Amino acid sequence: MIFDVIRRSLQAPQRLIPAEELLGHAAGSRMPEFDPAHLTREIARAVSDVCPTAALKIVEVNGRQLLRMDYGECIGCGRCLEAGPQAVSVAKKLLRCGVRRQELVQHFDFENHAEVILEAPSPEIAKEEISRLLGRALNVRQLDAGSCNGCESEITALTNPYYDLERFGIHFVASPKHADMLLVTGPVTRNMAVAVKQTYEAMPAPKLVVAVGACGCSGGIFAVSHAVVGPVDKVIPVDGYIPGCPPTPSMLITGILQVLRKPRELAPD
Ligand code: SF4
Ligand code: SF4
Repeated sequence: MIFDVIRRSLQAPQRLIPAEELLGHAAGSRMPEFDPAHLTREIARAVSDVCPTAALKIVEVNGRQLLRMDYGECIGCGRCLEAGPQAVSVAKKLLRCGVRRQELVQHFDFENHAEVILEAPSPEIAKEEISRLLGRALNVRQLDAGSCNGCESEITALTNPYYDLERFGIHFVASPKHADMLLVTGPVTRNMAVAVKQTYEAMPAPKLVVAVGACGCSGGIFAVSHAVVGPVDKVIPVDGYIPGCPPTPSMLITGILQVLRKPRELAPD
């Protein structure tokens, strides 16, 4: 009987998702994307009025009124999709993962129906770069600084047989002393601020820090709480930001790779 089971599992179709299907994909994240061609002043006002976190707001830049979209503050609630269905849809791809904080922000000129590029996002990771980036093992320590555990659920999924992060040589480790990268979720609560600092200090240099989720990037829906110090970069230096509430496993992998491919401006050993 056991041989029957083995035979049947060997005949089962491959479930592991190919790496190139993961990178940049945002399916399931509920992150919005904007079509500037259909954006009007009325829609800009309507979507910024309904946004619960001020991810969307009308700002003035160089004398022009622009719609500002900050993915670091977006919790994927979908209200803007309902308020401006002509101009807003669910993003299928999101390359703004693992980028600098200011690269999570987009600006749209709703009078001229165009995006205003103040900070260009990093280009897509070329497939051939993947193997070079992952040529060596990367040890990651995950730290919950005050999360609701939504981000942890997605991070846990990274190690299942569908995403199988280990195939890339990326491992989770229990001690910061063994870690190259610190993945921090949640807004940093007052109770956790010292632990976050101590974890960072315990890591050997060179080290990388990634802020995960709307909470890690901006404080998210907890930003105004008296129990919260703020986003991760209020407490320790951050190399890359992964938006989403929570980010999907694809967004997490994309973000981790984006951080790895950045020129290292890290402290020497
Ligand atoms: S999906 Fe994001 S941008 Fe849209 S209303 Fe919700 S929080 Fe704001
Ligand atoms: S970003 Fe969203 S899922 Fe992640 S900890 Fe914050 S509230 Fe929870």
